Amino acid sequence: MALSGLQIQKLLPKTNCKECGSNTCLAFAMKLAAKKAELSLCPYASEEAIQVLGAASEPPVKGIELGADKSLKLGEETVLYRHEKTFVNQTAFAVNINDTDPPEKIEKTLNAVKDYQLERVGEILEIDMVAVTQKDNDVEKFVEIVKKAWDMTKRPLVIRSNDQKSLTEVAIAIKGSNSVLAGATPETIDELQAVAAENGHILSVTAETLDELVALTAKIKKSGFNNLLLQFQTNSLAEQFQVSSIARRAALKDSYKPLGYPSLFFIESGDLLEETTVAITELCKYGGICVLPSFDPAQMAALMTLRLNIYTDPQKPIQVEPKVYPIGEPKSDSPVFLTTNFSLTYFIVSGEIENSGTSAWLVVPECEGMSVLTAWAAGKFSGPYIAKFIKECGLEEQVTTREIIIPGYVAQISGELEESLPGWKALVGPQEASDIESFVKARL
Ligand code: SF4
Repeated sequence: MALSGLQIQKLLPKTNCKECGSNTCLAFAMKLAAKKAELSLCPYASEEAIQVLGAASEPPVKGIELGADKSLKLGEETVLYRHEKTFVNQTAFAVNINDTDPPEKIEKTLNAVKDYQLERVGEILEIDMVAVTQKDNDVEKFVEIVKKAWDMTKRPLVIRSNDQKSLTEVAIAIKGSNSVLAGATPETIDELQAVAAENGHILSVTAETLDELVALTAKIKKSGFNNLLLQFQTNSLAEQFQVSSIARRAALKDSYKPLGYPSLFFIESGDLLEETTVAITELCKYGGICVLPSFDPAQMAALMTLRLNIYTDPQKPIQVEPKVYPIGEPKSDSPVFLTTNFSLTYFIVSGEIENSGTSAWLVVPECEGMSVLTAWAAGKFSGPYIAKFIKECGLEEQVTTREIIIPGYVAQISGELEESLPGWKALVGPQEASDIESFVKARL
């Protein structure tokens, strides 16, 4: 639970020596409570203070790092709902292969994972992980397939097996990949914990009931190993939703450490629509790693797009750099369009200009990532403001055109823009970007 400034002050020496940079211990305590200072600034903090404040400052959901370069991150969430602040580390998608799959199918899936890229609002989205499930008893073959998955994709892996020996061999074979071993049970936990720790892997723990799972994670954490994922055993979508919500609420609202870990979920229904529904539930309700049973490009595109929507920071609109963008191969007398630097707006408008088959210049002033009408209402898309940007960005030296096509939604700024930009004519374009093509054909 977060401590108040007064609670923290009781743990400090109360000598007001100022060495931490604050005038009093209370002022320093207030800064600590607001997470604007670190306890290490006080050289006289007691062991008790270090322990209590250290535990209180741990994120309620443990951060987990995966991959050789540890660049895939999970956890560290602090809110239940995205609009409260933001979600931090997005749900990772893994595509599963089985050791019983034909070699051509394995090869095809691994290539699909490696090569998949989806561009959305200027971001390249890729598949994060591969899962390898053991269904056969052939340990050697399993190890070979796991190594192949690692060598081909260089993605961190989720290794799933009920056999301790197989998990141990695999853990050694892909040491350094910082992958996930799934899943340790009350019976196998002691040995697998040691294997995971020795080889730098993350351990996914599972038990039949939530109570047993809690007992298991509490026991492991006490022993000093803390790189864990929770693998809930549920029988329906409703139960999956309920258990994930209970666990996350307990971690965030009650600082309940045994449930303060990201989760791992395997989807196995055999029905693409049902699998997609389950994956969406995982995305929306706190999934750490979501393992899809196979690769389907249409399903992946839908899930990636939804993930991008959920895991963008609602306080920071995604935006493109304010500047003049060439669309196609514009010449000095090519048409000049105007829009804002909200990424979604920019990519829709630039795409529609491209679709129209014309080359043009697209003027994008700094609008703090707001859409056209919002930016106009906030005073960031007025005639004088746009005129100032055009003068400063050097457009007048770059083009001979003196006509600028403004979005139809802000037709009202045409007069003030012409007044602030002598020699220019403001031509009112369509309201919707989808009408740019017909506008170009009719007017240009
Ligand atoms: S350094 Fe420590 S003891 Fe000194 S004022 Fe700051 S908090 Fe208090």
